[in-house]
Amino acid sequence: MNDHHPVDADTSLLQDGALAPTRTEQRYRAIVEDQTELVCRYDPNLNLTFGNRAYCKSFGLTPDELIGKSILSKIPPEEREAGIAHIRALTQTNPVAISVHHSLQADGSLRWVEWKDRAIFDEGGQIVEYQAVGRDITEQKRAETELLETQERMRLFIEHAPAAIAMLDTDMRYVAVSRRWLSDYRLGDENIIGRSHYDVFPEIPERWRNIHQRCLKGAVEMSDADRFPRLDGSHDWVRWEIRPWRHTDGRIGGILLFSEVITDRVNARNDLEEAYDALERRVTERTIELERAKERLEAIFNHSGDGILLVDVQQGIQQSNDTFNRMLDLGERSALGLSLLTWVHPDDMARINASLRDAASAQHPQGVEARLRRSDGTFIEVEISIAPINRSVYSVTNLVCIIRDITERKQAETTLKLMLEQEKELVELKTRFVSTASHEFRTPLAAILAATESLSLYRHRMSDEQISERLTRIGQQVGFLQSIMEDVLQLSSFQARKMECRPVVGDVARLCRDLVEEFDAQAEHQGRIRCDCPDTAVLVAYDPRLLRQAVSNLLHNALKYSAGEQPVDLQLSHDEQAIRICVRDAGIGIPPDDIKHIFEPFHRADNVGSISGTGLGLSITKQAIDLHNGTITVESEVGKGTSFTVTFPREPERYSAHDLP
Ligand code: ADP
Repeated sequence: MNDHHPVDADTSLLQDGALAPTRTEQRYRAIVEDQTELVCRYDPNLNLTFGNRAYCKSFGLTPDELIGKSILSKIPPEEREAGIAHIRALTQTNPVAISVHHSLQADGSLRWVEWKDRAIFDEGGQIVEYQAVGRDITEQKRAETELLETQERMRLFIEHAPAAIAMLDTDMRYVAVSRRWLSDYRLGDENIIGRSHYDVFPEIPERWRNIHQRCLKGAVEMSDADRFPRLDGSHDWVRWEIRPWRHTDGRIGGILLFSEVITDRVNARNDLEEAYDALERRVTERTIELERAKERLEAIFNHSGDGILLVDVQQGIQQSNDTFNRMLDLGERSALGLSLLTWVHPDDMARINASLRDAASAQHPQGVEARLRRSDGTFIEVEISIAPINRSVYSVTNLVCIIRDITERKQAETTLKLMLEQEKELVELKTRFVSTASHEFRTPLAAILAATESLSLYRHRMSDEQISERLTRIGQQVGFLQSIMEDVLQLSSFQARKMECRPVVGDVARLCRDLVEEFDAQAEHQGRIRCDCPDTAVLVAYDPRLLRQAVSNLLHNALKYSAGEQPVDLQLSHDEQAIRICVRDAGIGIPPDDIKHIFEPFHRADNVGSISGTGLGLSITKQAIDLHNGTITVESEVGKGTSFTVTFPREPERYSAHDLP
């Protein structure tokens, strides 16, 4: 107090009056006058008796003008009563009091002055005078007000900050707190200002208390996520930052605690992390599964006995396996990017194309057979299964083609079919043979039987001529049976494909002329055949035995199926390419329904009547001409006649130098 009121001690010195008045008074007056504080004295009626220089200046009066003026005139009216009460309260036991009120200045302004009033008593204990020392505290007051306002603003700022903020003093007592703090930590409307942080949160762990202590010593600490176990057994996740706050003089006044309860966020993040982990585990599992499935598929793809292709909608091959490459003997060449149609036989192309399109558009698997060309130009027979792969409900992206080589199967099928046909033909042949044999064999056998019976019964009564006539008949009939048997055997040789064509170069005109001569030599045919053959040699490669039999059969039929007086024409013509032999008669003709079966073994037309025959001659003829790469055609009209034309190529490549005559 003495620092602020240095005149206190001096005034007491003035009071005791122990020192010599003049020098002492002058000395102290000088001290009083030089004081910057306002010093005055006033009587019990509150009228001024003295004012130092500072006081006079403050009120704009000279020391003389000041005497007798009431001190109340310097106090604003509304504060006067309080001022009077304050002075009247001074007693001998309590002679000094401090008050603060406004003082009216000479310029009319008001300033805050802190007054220390002292009552001065006489020996009888009566107040004789008052002394007042005033100190202008206007600036201090303004600073205080400003501080209060600043504090209030800060309090309001903290209170309404959209974050959990607490301001604590060095004893960890709340100075200010934001509403968010109260709500985040579930403190309701509790007024916690002035309370200890550790009373409010007794559960605060030792670790945090240590952090508070470090921050109270100046540290700044923070955590992005810290677990805060609560009293009720639950826990919060908190993100916090603690930094010290300081007084204006730099001293640490406490700490500022910023925090954010991020429990929901952390839980959500944990849930997300768990979900992510679970997802990652599933992805890993699925990846392994997919890898295995891929390996399995690749094994199937690469080791399949079938060719497998993955084809896109533009029909370009995206993937092909080794089997496909081997199947077509592609070697190192790649099938990728090419179309399957590249190897398809031209005749099968339209079908395969349609199947590929159908599989893609109708989304139905398709099965189709085709021929594929290998690198060496040969074709293999394949069975192609085409299946669409649906990438989405709306579009078909790829097709899978599984290609199986069925060449062997096809060959086996063909062989089987051929064998079946042969078997069928054989059965038919046997059936027809049995019926023909029963008919054709019966007549000669009956004749033989009759001749042998008559010989055995009546031989002793017969002449030698009669006996030899019967023996001749038996011989003829046996010969007839033999020729039938030979025809049958020859046909079966053709059927079994045992018959071979052994061509040699020879004169076919000569062959024709010889045949006509042979028929002419038989009495019943004599003069009937008209031969129109070149006189010069017509050289051609042919099998003499087969061609002779073929032409002979045609001549024999022409003679047999026409009346004895009708002529039969044999015509031979030729050019560079072919030989043509035509046998024409004016006989019974062949009905149209029979013409198409006429070359089948044992087939005989309906109109043959009693003319004997086996139905074998024409089949043998046709087989013989087939072996010469030739053709045989027939034109016939019932009742008018028939003409058979045999044509076969000259085939000069069959000639060899030594064959030529
Ligand atoms: P076939 O021994 O019956 O004469 P072919 O095989 O030689 O046997 O002839 C088959 C059938 O064709 C004959 O049965 C006959 O019906 C008919 N045919 C063959 N050649 C003639 C022909 N020149 N005129 C009329 N019919 C014929």
